[in-house]
Amino acid sequence: MKKAKLNYTKQGYSYIKCTKEDCLNWGGMSICDNCNELMEEEVYLIFILSRAICKECFEEWLKRAKIYEEDLKLQKQRHVSWYKAYGFDIEED
Ligand SMILES: [Zn+2]
Repeated sequence: MKKAKLNYTKQGYSYIKCTKEDCLNWGGMSICDNCNELMEEEVYLIFILSRAICKECFEEWLKRAKIYEEDLKLQKQRHVSWYKAYGFDIEED
């Protein structure tokens, strides 16, 4: 397992910035779940979307993401094990 630190958007949603290689390791094809483009650079793995998306889509999402308390609650309960399923050992502060 690869150690990873969670990052948070200003709305409070967690994500991990990972690589194409990480994506291939978990059995993904390194194709953005939003726009279907091949991801050659950064890959953003986001629990609340259940998606791995490219930088452009991530920045697009950041602009329009809204805060839903229910989502944040769900995230708190489940995100660590979800990221773990993708091969990331989460370091909590
Ligand atoms: Zn994309």
